[in-house]
Amino acid sequence: MKDIKTQLVHGGEPETLIEGAVCMPVFQSATFEYSGEGSYHDVRYIRLNNTPNHTVLHKKLALLERGEAALVLASGMAAISTALLSTLKAGDHLLAQNTLYGGTHGLLTKELKNFGIDYDFIDLDRGESWARYLKPNTKAIYVESISNPLMQVGNLEAVVEFAKNNNLVSLIDNTFTGPYNFCPLPLGFDLSLHSCTKSLNGHSDIVAGAIIGSRKFIDLCAEKAAHLGGSLDPHACFLLHRGIKTLALRMDYQNRLATEIAAFLASHPAVEKVNYPGLKSHPHYDRAQKLFRGCGGVLSFEIKGGVAAATAFTNKVKLSVSAPSLGGVESLVTCPVHTSHAGLSADERQAAGISPGLVRVSLGIEAAEDLKADFNQALDS
Ligand SMILES: *Cc1c(COP(=O)(O)O)cnc(C)c1O
Repeated sequence: MKDIKTQLVHGGEPETLIEGAVCMPVFQSATFEYSGEGSYHDVRYIRLNNTPNHTVLHKKLALLERGEAALVLASGMAAISTALLSTLKAGDHLLAQNTLYGGTHGLLTKELKNFGIDYDFIDLDRGESWARYLKPNTKAIYVESISNPLMQVGNLEAVVEFAKNNNLVSLIDNTFTGPYNFCPLPLGFDLSLHSCTKSLNGHSDIVAGAIIGSRKFIDLCAEKAAHLGGSLDPHACFLLHRGIKTLALRMDYQNRLATEIAAFLASHPAVEKVNYPGLKSHPHYDRAQKLFRGCGGVLSFEIKGGVAAATAFTNKVKLSVSAPSLGGVESLVTCPVHTSHAGLSADERQAAGISPGLVRVSLGIEAAEDLKADFNQALDS
């Protein structure tokens, strides 16, 4: 099998170039001529996520994460909701990690409840406690490779074993690591989910999602997605496809850059604490070293002086933009209190370990020296 760096560029590409085009052209056509397809789901139509720009991405993503099949969708949340609704039905119960991405947390607590799907949150660091939450109707376990914004890495090997022992479908949101830094399927996860909006596309210019897993399960998800309607437009497919080709270059750089910036921030007198699993001081450093090629370009830190100091920092940086989201070529900073975790009460945030002075940084591909100089001037003032 070829190295992932080669697969990113060549994997899944058309065997004969279309009209000699070196890049996959955009097939901006809602519908395609009927050619004897046997079922509705085989008729080519953009909503069915089966036009040429979809299928080339499906092949590439499946190769990258060593799954049988993949499905691209309109957003990370479309991938997550489609995967969960394909796994669970009314009367089922789900175990989910207690530090979920905000949108996923909302999906479970506000939407799935109304579909008759129940859940319990578990602490990924306390494997001995998980069995307590099992019910006869527990069907699945849902985790994230690296949690946001504290950058925690759960005991993912224990999750896989627990799922196997208890006959649960295991799902992992692999957005923060991506296929270059971590492949969850060979470890034993059933389904890997992505917000391709982040590092897979890498240029902050589209919203997209993906599910990767067995052929059988992906077919089920594709059928569900056709009814739910969250399909990816061919032009967004094209941009995602283009972005994916440079993933290895971007991730190698961001893995190194984030490690360097994390060490720089940790030594700055205005910084209380840095959360990055690539730092030796992080409680999950050993786990991350064992499981991941690198820890990606996102880190967070606590600034001395609470929410006022954190807000001032995000206002004073000149090179980085103060904006949510992550995984692009430009560095972004954000205060979780104002953005991703604004919906939580102060007590809920404290329980989740999100201090008022927390700043999240998504590193781009700028020079380390320029970023350090910019962070320095924002921290010093
Ligand atoms: C952004 C993100 C999502 C949601 O993705 P969208 O593309 O915005 O729908 C899900 N999970 C994680 C970890 C994310 O960072």
